Amino acid sequence: MGTLRLLRCAGCGKLSVPPRERCAGCLSAALVACDLPGEGTVVAATVIRRPPLALRDRGPYLVAMVRTDAGPFVTGRIDGTDDLPAPGTRIRLNRYDGESPVFERI
Ligand SMILES: [Zn+2]
Repeated sequence: MGTLRLLRCAGCGKLSVPPRERCAGCLSAALVACDLPGEGTVVAATVIRRPPLALRDRGPYLVAMVRTDAGPFVTGRIDGTDDLPAPGTRIRLNRYDGESPVFERI
């Protein structure tokens, strides 16, 4: 299982998803990188059938908004295009493709 790359505010402890320059909770610039378990729950998902030019060779692909068990919402791809995961589906981070998380069903 992969670990999520998140930022933790040194001021208030709030977790956020990079890239971010300031904490959304207290506006502190003291954000520290941390790795946390990459499991979560699908909130919503869709199929991207006409990807942007930079990803044209990878389409179609699934994209989901995931509420991580650590708290923050993360948007990432999901391996496979056969069935759209329903809200509530449990998933985990498989890997990063550049800066983009790629999840898999548990
Ligand atoms: Zn903060």
